[in-house]
Amino acid sequence: MKTLILGAGYAGLAVATKLKPTPGLEALMVEQNAYHTFETRLHEAAAHNTRVTLPLTPLLRGTGVALEQAQVDHVNLDDREVKLKDGRVLTYDALVVALGSVTNFYRIPGLAENAAELKQLSDADEIFNFVNRAFSSDYQGNRDIVVGGAGLTGVELVTELAQRAQLLSKERGLPPFNIYLVEAGPKILPILDEGLRAKAQKTLEEYGIHILVGHRLMQATADTVTVQTASGEQKIIEAGKIIWTGGIQARDIVSGSKLEKGPGGRIAVDDKLRAKGYPEVFVIGDMGLALNQDGKPVPTTAQHAGQQGRLTGKNILRMVRGEELEPYEPTTLGEFVSLGGLMAVGWMKLPWNQKLAITGGIAHVMKRASEWRWRASID
Ligand SMILES: Cc1cc2nc3c(=O)[nH]c(=O)nc-3n(C[C@H](O)[C@H](O)[C@H](O)COP(=O)(O)OP(=O)(O)OC[C@H]3O[C@@H](n4cnc5c(N)ncnc54)[C@H](O)[C@@H]3O)c2cc1C
Repeated sequence: MKTLILGAGYAGLAVATKLKPTPGLEALMVEQNAYHTFETRLHEAAAHNTRVTLPLTPLLRGTGVALEQAQVDHVNLDDREVKLKDGRVLTYDALVVALGSVTNFYRIPGLAENAAELKQLSDADEIFNFVNRAFSSDYQGNRDIVVGGAGLTGVELVTELAQRAQLLSKERGLPPFNIYLVEAGPKILPILDEGLRAKAQKTLEEYGIHILVGHRLMQATADTVTVQTASGEQKIIEAGKIIWTGGIQARDIVSGSKLEKGPGGRIAVDDKLRAKGYPEVFVIGDMGLALNQDGKPVPTTAQHAGQQGRLTGKNILRMVRGEELEPYEPTTLGEFVSLGGLMAVGWMKLPWNQKLAITGGIAHVMKRASEWRWRASID
């Protein structure tokens, strides 16, 4: 069974590392980078240049999966073809699509052209270089940073940047820059319960971050953003760097006449994570629209991408052996948000669907533990 795995993120890599050399299975992973990116730690790379990648070749050793470093241009499910940017066309018996998501700029005028994102290593490098430039003695321009979107990514980024700015400020004798966190909704971190959110908000305030909730970003230029309150009042904020973390959408790279897409362009899948109408095609991670036990969309997180990948890896082995596939039953083990340095807030799941709220250093350790678990699962 000729099997292609597209993407070596949390979902794709979990598939590959579940596989093993098996008679009748020929597996090839196609990934544009020679490495896996720990996307959940990109904010650390943006602030501190932390290493957040791992080379793929050693990770695939012993799995029987070959690696093709190439960029996918288009996937045609009706013709069972994967077209690569270099013009080559690959065919398959079974396909795993795990190409992740892209930033959604919601057609806000000037935003896509002028804002940085935080989706890949080069984005983190761009932000890191700006911060370093802003703290060099000959820097003349505006040093302030505006981050749009107060979800997980935005909050983790601003706290990490604030921490870095305090450090550089002490080291180089310059005042820290202003950081503005702009959010159209009424609160930061809507995924968290009230108590944890209040704790997170307090931490942001202690860092001196300007929290502008209820402010819709209306327009961006190279060095300004225009924001508007619910009452229609507009303000212009000047900035040296604008970063947008306010939304994502599935990568739009797959076509098929029977394909069903849902919110955010995510591809609807059945209970075995196969694209509806295409039983040989698994769509997992941020690209797939899987439903939980209550019929609600599973969140686009690394945690769920990894779970889906591990199940799909097992199901591919079952397909090769002619066995029944196992259905997907998502579980959310907890959620943790890092708030710079050793501070974090979050919760972990307890028996009988209870949640244990955790803040401070222990929450930081819990967040790190989930990253170590991921690291151990792909080794
Ligand atoms: C800063 C930040 C913090 C986050 N924090 C958390 C967190 O704390 N907890 C959590 O659960 N989730 C978190 N997330 C979300 C999480 O990272 C995503 O949900 C997860 O990465 C989705 O996994 P995936 O495998 O679908 O996609 P990805 O991990 O994005 O992988 C997609 C892969 O496909 C490759 N690719 C893309 N296009 C092509 C192409 N055309 N050709 C070849 N290869 C291609 C990419 O290089 C990449 O390796 C965070 C995200 C960000 C940005």
